[in-house]
Amino acid sequence: MNQPPATLRVLLPLPLADAYDYLPLAGQKLQPGTVVDVPFGSKQMIGVVWGKGTSNLPLSKLRHITGTVDLPPLPETTRNFVDWVAQYTVTPPGAVLKMAFGSMRLLKPKKNDDFSCPPPKPNHHQPHLTDDQKKAADALVQKVRDEAYSVTLLDGVTGSGKTEVFCEAIAECFRQGKQALVLLPEIAMTAALLDRFAARFGVQPTQWHSELTEKQRRINWHAIMRGESKFILGARSALFLAYPNLGLIVVDEEHEAAYKQEEGVIYHGRDMAVVRAHLGNIPLVLSSATPSLETMFNVQQKKYDHVVLHERFGKAAMPKIELVDLRKYKMTAQNFISPPLFEALQKTIADKQQAMLFLNRRGYAPLTLCRACGHRLACPNCTSWMIEHKQSGRLHCHHCNFSMRLPDKCPTCGAEGRFAACGPGVERVAEEMKARMPDIRFAIMASDTLDGPKAAQALVNQMANQELDLLIGTQIMAKGYHFPRLTLVGVVDADLGLAGGDPRAAERTFQLLQQVSGRSGRGEDAGRVLLQTTAPDHPVMKALLKGDRDSFMAAELKEREAYHLPPAWRLASITVSGADKNHVIRLAEQIAAAAPQNQKLRILGPAPAPFAMLRGRYRHRLLVQAPRNINLSASIRQWLGGAKIPRSLRIMVDIDPYSFL
Ligand code: ADP
Ligand code: ZN
Repeated sequence: MNQPPATLRVLLPLPLADAYDYLPLAGQKLQPGTVVDVPFGSKQMIGVVWGKGTSNLPLSKLRHITGTVDLPPLPETTRNFVDWVAQYTVTPPGAVLKMAFGSMRLLKPKKNDDFSCPPPKPNHHQPHLTDDQKKAADALVQKVRDEAYSVTLLDGVTGSGKTEVFCEAIAECFRQGKQALVLLPEIAMTAALLDRFAARFGVQPTQWHSELTEKQRRINWHAIMRGESKFILGARSALFLAYPNLGLIVVDEEHEAAYKQEEGVIYHGRDMAVVRAHLGNIPLVLSSATPSLETMFNVQQKKYDHVVLHERFGKAAMPKIELVDLRKYKMTAQNFISPPLFEALQKTIADKQQAMLFLNRRGYAPLTLCRACGHRLACPNCTSWMIEHKQSGRLHCHHCNFSMRLPDKCPTCGAEGRFAACGPGVERVAEEMKARMPDIRFAIMASDTLDGPKAAQALVNQMANQELDLLIGTQIMAKGYHFPRLTLVGVVDADLGLAGGDPRAAERTFQLLQQVSGRSGRGEDAGRVLLQTTAPDHPVMKALLKGDRDSFMAAELKEREAYHLPPAWRLASITVSGADKNHVIRLAEQIAAAAPQNQKLRILGPAPAPFAMLRGRYRHRLLVQAPRNINLSASIRQWLGGAKIPRSLRIMVDIDPYSFL
């Protein structure tokens, strides 16, 4: 008797609810992970054999796999990771698989593609480590030798040599012949690190991020998945690639909220790195000068190890932080630099040193209003003000791509030429500096004034070569850079991040200001930091002033516990959006009414999201809190599983939200 042909589940890189069953190729035994061609509708698709078939459809209804694709099979760890992330984020597994593939166009190499990569040399240029660094490096190297899952927080002030230290662990990984992955929160930082890694290991790492050309992406993708490339430097999406032999992951600047992906599959790169390390049974290093409360909590719970670098490398001391109480100074509506900060700038530049002015706000002014009637120019699609940008000569919405010229007349009262800019963005601070110190050489560093990592690197080089006296910029200049002659950091508005409904507002402000401060005094000369604030008694300002991170974080954790917030509790948001406000509200209320009754879930809302309108869609939101021992993803999947969603509405689930817009 002939056995009926077994069927195979094939996962397609599409946001479908599940994998589909297919009949195997005649006479071929296909292992899970094999990349195959299958018919799908009227098209051919590429998919991955995910396991044995599971559907009850009669075999006559199933179609045949049409061929195999000449690629190494997707490793089991990668497949498990895809499934895990899909479950956790409440997204279809095919949408996660798509991230492993990068894009379908990459899969078939072109004739002259060369995937070979020179191997990194573990001992190419090994620095002489200080005792403190050596101890930390030894601990990390041991984790690599253990060849097992572990998470270690590498915790050291900016400039303490964390990068040098984790490079020792990477070197050990290379000695084992394995692949090492370093994740960065932002692409702008890759250029500087590429050269640094090249100096250390004799070769540049293979990059993986959205700003590569298609050809580079294709070549890098194949080099990584074929195991040719041993050293990978990438953005969070690099986690999903199919590594045949990954031995170590490093998450640099692990506290960065930029690790959170807010669109498509919504996930946190750092947290998924922990999962990837666990599934692959490999060590993970989380590096930061200002670790996240999540990570500190896990250290406290003894889930993560903790390795500390106590001081800055070499002669550099930590900068002196001072508060400037803005309430004490009379400043005009056009001036944002207080007398003490201005004096400090003058002195620094006269001493042939460099300064940085930090303001986390792009553009010229965050608000434009009519002086005659008070009308504020708002985005027609979003609950947000239009932001004036001198560079483009237009007003832009920072939440959708709407932009407009400054109108001649006020749309409300018709007054002509009465618009006034309110408050500063980096362009306006630059204007003030130009007016008050016309001879200084400065540049603006913000995501919209730079196009790409090369432009960022060009500015960094100008700073390093002392062709600039002053950098004025947003958070993209807060991180990672090392300018030995930079001795003054001025924070224009230290209170900026504290407003709003983000439960992490205080933590983030602390981290951001601590990071920016860390740019100062990294060379031989002592650094100074001036924080302009109207709230000098705020716990964040006090902690920065005293340099007392740990007490601040402990107090913060207590507060989160009291309010049932992460990391003490789990949190998720469910946002309903659509063009029709009433339909949105109705569905949000239906969802709330269908909430599981039995569990210890706490449900807040539904209520209009703080940005009740975004990109032309109304948004109604529920927040769900759960104790840590509840599988919140599973509850939500079940809860929403029965919901009937009209095509015109969308439900977005965000497990562990970082964005509270
Ligand atoms: P972090 O990552 O903690 O901010 P880095 O690793 O960037 O610190 O180190 C800060 C600076 O000090 C860098 O320029 C680095 O090359 C230098 N440095 C750190 N440790 C050493 C060392 N042991 N020998 C030589 N230079 C070092
Ligand atoms: Zn908008």
